Amino acid sequence: MPAAGYNMRLAELIYSAFPCVGLPISAHPPSNYCCICTFPIDTLDHHSLTVNLTDPVFRGRYHGRKKHQDDFAHMLVRSKRAGVASMIITGGSLSESKQALNLAKEHNLYATIGCHPTRSGEFEKDPSGYFQALDELIGANLSGPGRAVAVGECGLDYDRTHFASTVVQQRHFRSQLALAKKYHLPLFLHSRAAHGDFVQILREEGFGEDGGRAVGGRGGVVHSFTGPPQDAIDYINMGFHVSVNGCSLKTEENLAAVKVIVPRRIMFETDAPWCSMTSTHASRKHIDSLPADLRELFLPRAVRAEAFVPGQPVKGRNEPNAVGGVAWVVHKVKEVPFEEIVEQGWRNTVELFGLRELADDPSREA
Ligand SMILES: [Zn+2]
Repeated sequence: MPAAGYNMRLAELIYSAFPCVGLPISAHPPSNYCCICTFPIDTLDHHSLTVNLTDPVFRGRYHGRKKHQDDFAHMLVRSKRAGVASMIITGGSLSESKQALNLAKEHNLYATIGCHPTRSGEFEKDPSGYFQALDELIGANLSGPGRAVAVGECGLDYDRTHFASTVVQQRHFRSQLALAKKYHLPLFLHSRAAHGDFVQILREEGFGEDGGRAVGGRGGVVHSFTGPPQDAIDYINMGFHVSVNGCSLKTEENLAAVKVIVPRRIMFETDAPWCSMTSTHASRKHIDSLPADLRELFLPRAVRAEAFVPGQPVKGRNEPNAVGGVAWVVHKVKEVPFEEIVEQGWRNTVELFGLRELADDPSREA
C-alpha cells in the first residue's frame, strides 16, 4: 500500500484515540491496528501517580536522579500518533491495582487487578485479608469506564525468587485463579523459567482446556512470551493467548517460537519502559525493513537522557508507540501481511478483554 495513504488513515485515528498511558494498545491503519502494551504500574511514581500521572522515567527521573524535563505528554502524543487507541494498566499488587484503577478511570483506560508472583509475599502477613481485598476490589470495578478487565498480573517467576519463594508464588497464583473463575474474567499471566509448574497449576485448577471455561474462567494471555515453541503451543492448546514484545524477539530461537503462535491467539505489547528492541537483537534485521514513515511513528530517533530534546524520545526507554514495531517484526517472521496481523491482534485484544466500546467505535472505520 502507498505510504502516504497509510499515514492519512492513521492520522484520522488520532482524533478518536483515547488518551493513553498504560497497557493494551490499539492502533489501526488501513484496517484495524492493534496491540496490548503492558505498562506495569510498578514503574510509576506512587506518590504522585494518582494526581500527576507520574512515571519517573517519563518525568525525566532515572533511579532517583533528574536527567531531563518532564515529557510524559510528549510520550502520549507519540503514542496516539502511532495509533495507540487504548491501554490496559496492569496491577502488580493490591495497592498498585488500586492505582491502576484510578489511572484507568481518570483517562478512560482499563486496568487489571492482581498480584505479580514476585510481589506475592505481600499476601503472607494476612493471606485471607489480602485475598478478600483483591476480591472486593474486582467486585466493585466490573463495569463502566476505567473498569477491571482481567485478573493479574499473576503467575510464576522462578528467575526472581528473592522476594517470594517458589512455594509462596505457587500458593497465591492458585488463589488468584479462583478470582478469575468467580468473576468470569480473563487472566493476565506471567511465567518465567517455571513452565512445568505454571502449566500444572493451571491444569489442576481447571484451566487445562478452553481457557478454563468449564470452571467459570474466560481464558487469558501469557504476556511477554520468551519461551521455546512448545511452551507457546501448550498455552494455545489450553485455550490461552500469547503476547509478544521486544523481549520476545531477541534471539533467533525467540523468533522461531513466535512463528508458531497462530494469528487468532496473538497479541502485541511493549512492556514499556522496558523491553526495547535494540540493534543487537534478532529483530533488528526486520526492523531495518520498516518503511521510513512507519519507523518515524513507531520507533522515532531517540536521544540520550543527558542530551534531551523536548518532543524526542529518550534512548533506552521503551514507549507504547513501539508496539507498531513489534507487530512489524512479527509480520515479517510469520510472513503474513502487516495489516492482517495487526487487525487480528486488535480483534483478539478487544474480544478477550471484552472491550466492547472499542469494537463499536464507528470512528475506527478507515
Ligand atoms: Zn510480566
